[in-house]
Amino acid sequence: MSASIHDTLRTVFGFHAFRPPQQEVIERVIGGEDVFLVMPTGGGKSLCYQVPALHRRGVAIVVSPLIALMKDQVDGLLANGVAAACLNSTLVPAEARSVFQRWDAGELDLLYVAPERLLMADFLERLAAVPLALFAIDEAHCISQWGHDFRPEYTQLGRLRELFPDVPLVAMTATADPETRRDILRQLGIQGAKVYVAGFDRPNITYNVLPKQKPFVQLEAFLRNRRDEAGIVYALSRKRVEEVAQRLRDAGFSARAYHAGLPDRERQQVQEAFRRDDLRIVVATVAFGMGIDKPNVRYVVHYDLPKSVESYYQETGRAGRDGLPSEALLLFGMGDVMTARSLIENSENPERVRIELQKLNAMVAYAEALTCRRRALLGYFGEQRDHECGNCDICNDPPERFDASEAVRKVLSCVYRVGERFGARHVIDVLRGSKGQRIAELRHDRLSTYGIGADLSGEEWDNIIRQLIHLGYLTQDFSRYGVLGLTPAARPVLKGEVAVLLGRPRSTARVEERSRSR
Ligand code: ADP
Ligand code: ZN
Repeated sequence: MSASIHDTLRTVFGFHAFRPPQQEVIERVIGGEDVFLVMPTGGGKSLCYQVPALHRRGVAIVVSPLIALMKDQVDGLLANGVAAACLNSTLVPAEARSVFQRWDAGELDLLYVAPERLLMADFLERLAAVPLALFAIDEAHCISQWGHDFRPEYTQLGRLRELFPDVPLVAMTATADPETRRDILRQLGIQGAKVYVAGFDRPNITYNVLPKQKPFVQLEAFLRNRRDEAGIVYALSRKRVEEVAQRLRDAGFSARAYHAGLPDRERQQVQEAFRRDDLRIVVATVAFGMGIDKPNVRYVVHYDLPKSVESYYQETGRAGRDGLPSEALLLFGMGDVMTARSLIENSENPERVRIELQKLNAMVAYAEALTCRRRALLGYFGEQRDHECGNCDICNDPPERFDASEAVRKVLSCVYRVGERFGARHVIDVLRGSKGQRIAELRHDRLSTYGIGADLSGEEWDNIIRQLIHLGYLTQDFSRYGVLGLTPAARPVLKGEVAVLLGRPRSTARVEERSRSR
């Protein structure tokens, strides 16, 4: 290989420097390793397979579900002088034949295909007969039922790893949901892939959560000094959207409703007026979102609880695209949690119910967090932070903190003792010395951590565990019933090398008193 990847970056793509973590990813893929890239849209995932495609022998096969996106990518590459083509249902037979001819003549570097085409028997035979640079799987979350865009034709892609064990695989997604990601790795058979999570932080957004008391009054107070700014208010139901929009208009605000029940024409008008700054506030259901790329949205208010952390992140992410300071405000009340739970439990599909409830629980945990919101948010995505952001309600007005090192060591060692194979409830039962049958059956009453946490209530332990998850000492695998595991950060804590400060909710006041009295 003569040119370096930096030469390729400059001469082919016209860029001067890689963004993190592009270079590292590219080097791995060129070296033949699998990688899994989790980066938001616009983060720069494409270069991570396009550069290796030009540095490895053979053609790179790129799987993409959307024909329009495929065409844009190919046009972009052709404009840079890269030999790329696509095969999809829109091609007439003569066009498809010409693609195959170029491929046979060794003239193609990248070939974009739809998943259903890739897995046809004759196509697989062809792949087996030629050198392949790599497989890139775009929108990889489509393989998972955990995700929001499950596509049955993606499920067969797991065969690629078996059929072509030596061809590196680059899986890519912008999905922020950790369960979906674990599922993707498993289904693609690339559990050993190095995972890169990058670019999710939106430093110019301030995160705020308020206990929901009189939501309309709270909303009005929030908007009072923001009359001239553009913003979105999300509410759960169409009825509530209409009602809030009307009340805002009555109070003299420039506000309109947007939801899927309105005629197309009206929705377009609202979008257009908002875009042109003729309308300040859109009160909307989640139907408002796709295709809004208004740069100067100054705030996003959640009047009701979003159904997952991922939707919350996406919806708040519509604020501050221009990079200027912007706000996200969530009104959080237990009533909403109950409503959301009962809606979910109405579903017929038990697997769906389980998934949705876990997602909701993670959202509730975020809203209840006593740790920096940004750390909790990024930690949920797997992007670890070791410092507070200084730009959220918790950082700006921190809860009282106390040295919880001793209690924390107890939990961490208990998670370890039960083999990182049980969820929070079981760990708490062991800590509190429960006499339950299951504990006895598993002989967990003989563990050294059995009963060492009897001095705190179940609720107090639960609170500590949640904070440890947010702070990145524990992981919780929802695809395996919420099993708790230790992260590398837990080790120095276990060894007593570092102290852990936790926020103090009213109910854990006792923890501190007790550690003090020792
Ligand atoms: P994604 O696939 O993650 O949505 P893209 O790969 O399409 O993102 O990249 C988003 C934009 O960023 C594109 O316009 C791309 O040209 C640009 N870009 C990517 N990497 C770099 C880089 N290293 N330097 C400058 N621009 C870049
Ligand atoms: Zn913070």
